[in-house]
Amino acid sequence: MLVDSHCHIDFPELAEQLDAVFALMAENRVERALCVSVTLADFPRVRKIAEDHSHVDASVGVHPDYEDVAPVTTRELVSLADHPKVVAVGETGLDYYRLKGDLEWQRERFRTHIRAARECGKPLIIHTRAAAADTLRIMREERAGDAGGVMHCFTESWEVAEAAIDMGFLISFSGIVTFKSARELREVARRVPLESMLVETDSPYLAPVPHRGKTNQPGHVLHVATEIARLKELELHEVAAKTSDNFYRLFKSI
Ligand SMILES: [Zn+2]
Ligand SMILES: [Zn+2]
Repeated sequence: MLVDSHCHIDFPELAEQLDAVFALMAENRVERALCVSVTLADFPRVRKIAEDHSHVDASVGVHPDYEDVAPVTTRELVSLADHPKVVAVGETGLDYYRLKGDLEWQRERFRTHIRAARECGKPLIIHTRAAAADTLRIMREERAGDAGGVMHCFTESWEVAEAAIDMGFLISFSGIVTFKSARELREVARRVPLESMLVETDSPYLAPVPHRGKTNQPGHVLHVATEIARLKELELHEVAAKTSDNFYRLFKSI
């Protein structure tokens, strides 16, 4: 059985067809999915999906790409995280690819999330794009390792993966690992120990081969795990079992 460690099934593309989404999960033996919050305005929808479906968990956080939203406080995050189906804080982090200019607000918001995760004892879901050095620096400065968590939709180098693993973080691979252009990332996936690995879809985006370009959904995490198994010369069931164990250990879900 597989787990999709990161999806956005509250987004309209998927929220309008949840029955079909859950049916494909069952067909592909994906037993659980973590629905990740990107703004506090979205969060009640994310929480509701998790409350209504025993095999869906939720997180609370404000994604670094959302600039025009009210500043979030540690206290707010800690209070919203105090719910049995909220298993993580995020997604948070830094994204210097999508937004340019003075991004001090992004770094401040990231620090706020790390402080909240440490305070409530729930792990972090970290998004980093074109900002690896600052991401690792802030993780160290704010002692993110005390909370632990995952570097999601990982696309960085082995050195960045190793630094995050040293802080006790897991590395999560998405459908990008199946893309023809992702040769270097496949090398990183080969090197990351299975003990430190999760798989995810980040759906509705980033549909893996053979569904590339279409709307992604949690059932497609099967194709990510199949590629990881191929790269590591393991059986699919070994990758499924280990990444699921890692998920339950990190998020203390169920
Ligand atoms: Zn992300
Ligand atoms: Zn995401």
